[in-house]
Amino acid sequence: MGATGVNNQKIDKEQESLNLLSSTQVVIHEALNKLGFSDEMYELLKEPLRMLTVRMPVKMDDGSVKIFTGYRAQHNDAVGPTKGGVRFHPEVNEHEVKALAMWMSLKCGIVDLPYGGGKGGIICDPRTMSMGELERLSRAYVRAISQIVGPTKDIPAPDVYTNSQIMAWMLDEYSMLREYDSPGFITGKPLVLGGSQGREKATAQGVTICIREAAKKKGINVEGASVVVQGFGNAGSFLAKFMHDAGAKVVGISDAYGALYDPEGLDIDYLLDRRDSFGTVTTLFDNTITNQELLEKECDILVPAAITNQITIDNAHNIKASIVVEAANGPTTLEATKILTERGVLLVPDVLASSGGVTVSYFEWVQNNQGYYWTEEEVNEKLELVLVQAFNNVYQISQTRNIDMRLAAYMAGARKMAEAVKFRGWL
Ligand code: GLU
Repeated sequence: MGATGVNNQKIDKEQESLNLLSSTQVVIHEALNKLGFSDEMYELLKEPLRMLTVRMPVKMDDGSVKIFTGYRAQHNDAVGPTKGGVRFHPEVNEHEVKALAMWMSLKCGIVDLPYGGGKGGIICDPRTMSMGELERLSRAYVRAISQIVGPTKDIPAPDVYTNSQIMAWMLDEYSMLREYDSPGFITGKPLVLGGSQGREKATAQGVTICIREAAKKKGINVEGASVVVQGFGNAGSFLAKFMHDAGAKVVGISDAYGALYDPEGLDIDYLLDRRDSFGTVTTLFDNTITNQELLEKECDILVPAAITNQITIDNAHNIKASIVVEAANGPTTLEATKILTERGVLLVPDVLASSGGVTVSYFEWVQNNQGYYWTEEEVNEKLELVLVQAFNNVYQISQTRNIDMRLAAYMAGARKMAEAVKFRGWL
C-alpha cells in the first residue's frame, strides 16, 4: 500500500473511532435520562476527566530512534481508581482510547467493582517489532505516564496485542521508578509476579457464562448448539475451546486474515495447536472465506471476538444466529443493534459480555493488596457469582423497561458512577 493508501486508512479509522465515541455518548445520555440524572451529569460523563498524550523516543534494533505516540485516558474516578487495559495497535487513536475508557467505566459499574474506567494505547505494530524493541517501548510508556498511574490511582492491564510479558516489563519499570515493589500497579501479570490464577482465561470464561445464561433465556441447549466465533485472539481462542468442551459445535472461527467454516464442526484442539502467538491460523488453509462471509453463516450463537464495527446496517439483516454475544469491544453499531433487537435476536452487549477480564483483574489486585493468593477454582467460583448476577440484572432491566440489552447494560453501568459523583458533591 502506498503512502496515500496508508493515510486514507488512518483517516477512515479515525472517523470510525469518532463514530464509536459519539454512539457511546448517545447511549450514555439515554441511560442517564432514564435513570433520572440531569444533563449536567451527562456533560460530565460524556468525555474522560483526563486524557494524556505522550511521545516516546525508543531505540530500535538497527540503531535508529523512533518516536512513538501513546495515550492514557481516565474516564471517571468518583467510584475509585480508574482501571483498564493498554493496547498496542497501528491504528490506535485518541477517540478510540476515550471511548474504550468510557466502556471500562460501564463494565466496572455492571459487575460492581470499586473502580472507574481507564484505557491506554500506543500506536505501533507489535507484529513487526522484536522483543527488545517491545520491552523498551513498554518501559518508555510507563515512564511517560508514571505521574498519573499507580495502584490507588489508575491500574493498567492487557488489551489488544499486549500480554503478561508486557505487563511484567511495565511492573518492573514502575517498581524501579518508585523504588519499591508494587504488584497492585498493574494486572494481567505472570503468576510468579503476583498474577491471578484464571486471569488469562477470564474474558472467555465471562463470555461463556453470558452465553449459557442467554441460551437459557432463549430455550437453547448449549450442548449441541452451533457456534461461530469471529477472532482467535485471547478471548476468541479460549472461548472456542470452552464451547467445544461444553459440547457445542464450533462451526466457524476466524483471524485477521480470513475465516474457516464447516457445518459439521471444526477441530478446535488442532487449530489451537497451530495458532501463533498473535492468534493467526487461517493462513495455513486454502479453503478460507472472509470474516464478513463468516458472520452471515448459519449458526445458533454468534460471538464477534475480534474488532470494532463488524455487524452494521449492511449485514445485520443477514445474521442467522438467534443469540449474538459481543466478546470484542464495539463490534456492533447502534443501527445494527436496533435491527437485531427488532428481529428478536438476543444481543449481549460488550460492556457486559467482556467484563470477565476486568473482574478477574480486580481479583488479582485484591490478592496483591492482601498478599494472599486464591486457587483457580476460587477465582472461577467468584467470577461465576459476579457474572450471573450482572447478566440477570441487565436482562431484568431490559425486560421491565422494554429496552434492548445495550441500553439496559448502560443503565446498570452508569448508575453507580453517577451516584458516586452526586455523593462527592461534584454536581
Ligand atoms: N482490556 C480488558 C478490557 O477491555 C481488561 C481490562 C482490565 O483487566 O483492567 O476489559
